[in-house]
Amino acid sequence: MSKIQEKLFKEIKDDSLFEKSLSYSKEYIAKIFDRDVYPSDQAIKDLDVFDSALPVDGLDGHHLIEHLNTFGSPATNAQLGGRYFGFVNGSAVPAGIAAKQLATTWDQNSGLQIISPICAKLESVVEKWINKLFDLDDKCVSGFVTGTSAANFCSLAAARYRILKNQGWDVNKKGLWNAPRVRIVAGKQAHSSVLKAVNMNGFGQESIEWVDVDHQGRMLVDSLPALDNTCLVLLQAGNVNSGAFDDFDNICTLANNAGSWVHIDGAFGLWAQCSSSLKHWTNGIAKADSLAVDGHKTLNTPYDCGIVICKDKDALSSAMHMSASYIMQNQERDGMYYTADMSRRSRVIELWATICSLGIHGIDEMVTSMHEKANLFADLLSSADGFTVLNEIDFNQIVVCCNSDELTSQVMQHIQQSGDCWVGHAMWKNKRVIRISICSWATTKDDINRSFNAFKTALEHCTTS
Ligand SMILES: *Cc1c(COP(=O)(O)O)cnc(C)c1O
Repeated sequence: MSKIQEKLFKEIKDDSLFEKSLSYSKEYIAKIFDRDVYPSDQAIKDLDVFDSALPVDGLDGHHLIEHLNTFGSPATNAQLGGRYFGFVNGSAVPAGIAAKQLATTWDQNSGLQIISPICAKLESVVEKWINKLFDLDDKCVSGFVTGTSAANFCSLAAARYRILKNQGWDVNKKGLWNAPRVRIVAGKQAHSSVLKAVNMNGFGQESIEWVDVDHQGRMLVDSLPALDNTCLVLLQAGNVNSGAFDDFDNICTLANNAGSWVHIDGAFGLWAQCSSSLKHWTNGIAKADSLAVDGHKTLNTPYDCGIVICKDKDALSSAMHMSASYIMQNQERDGMYYTADMSRRSRVIELWATICSLGIHGIDEMVTSMHEKANLFADLLSSADGFTVLNEIDFNQIVVCCNSDELTSQVMQHIQQSGDCWVGHAMWKNKRVIRISICSWATTKDDINRSFNAFKTALEHCTTS
């Protein structure tokens, strides 16, 4: 046996290594609701210990897990808790974390049914559940990807395949040189990841016909260009700043009648469909050809979990397809035909566990509550002197500013350093703004009150000093 093999067998047979990582995980979770939301400057500075030389001889597993815990844990943000409001970052429900821990140990590859029967089974089960949760056509297929950026990329690749195929052009054979033109129609506030997917699919930004938007960033239906069957229409469920939704019902009808492909970027907002009081916003999504949604934001699965949903199975699998002599096609689901990856980790396991743990009612309550907490926070801010809420609270996003750009920046930095909560910035209608995203199952009214107090304290500090 080689020396390295001896070391590795010793570590895998001596379960104290795994006990150690589990006990650190438990300690971490036990403190999550009380600790400062953002790491201290010292914790960030201490990360320099990782600037060490590449090990020549393998390090002891215990030692490196200890090292990671000592210096890594304090430099995390407490995203799992209830007062992290930065970007649009979800928490994770306990059963999802636990399922991911178990699945990590299984170390499955979700590429083919023959490689991992359990992953293929859960992917086909969750695919059906997704259609039920979002009230979509039974024939929609799902691919389980890293996030909405990947889901947008896969969706646009499917659209590209289908639109060109309808013009008699097989993009897989002929590529894009001399291909018929594809018209891209997008709102002026389309998310950057959608624009990236436009680039990655070889369309280029200059092929976009931009559509004017209203005060919430929603596409103005009357401003849409005349659509035809060469159009790819890009809509969004959840504007990243205002949280607002495009008018799916009307735009999808126009697009369907013209033979255009409609894609919806629903990273966090698509889950409004699962809230009995918010589902009016997503009315009409079943008429879309493809949709992209995250598990790791609103649904609160652990990170690295997105879904591409496509009504046209043939288009998605033709865009993602590859084959080799050793690949055994199966009667059952082979996940790799619906994503750009061949080998993939088993993210469906924590997605399945999260959906099971919440149930239809739990998802409804959780999503509805994010909206209620956002309303509460916005009401508190609107009633306080010195803060102006700039958006209508359609979903879970709040855009707020102080009396000048400089003051808004100073107040935001003070809040970030308070440890009470964490919020990020954005530009909105040429103003510097603080953006608040309520995206955690764990956020309580007390969290909102404490965070609001951090806003007031920060403003007092920045206006009196
Ligand atoms: C977060 C987000 C994305 C990108 O999703 P990732 O999961 O981070 O890749 C796309 N669109 C919108 C509206 C988002 O909020």
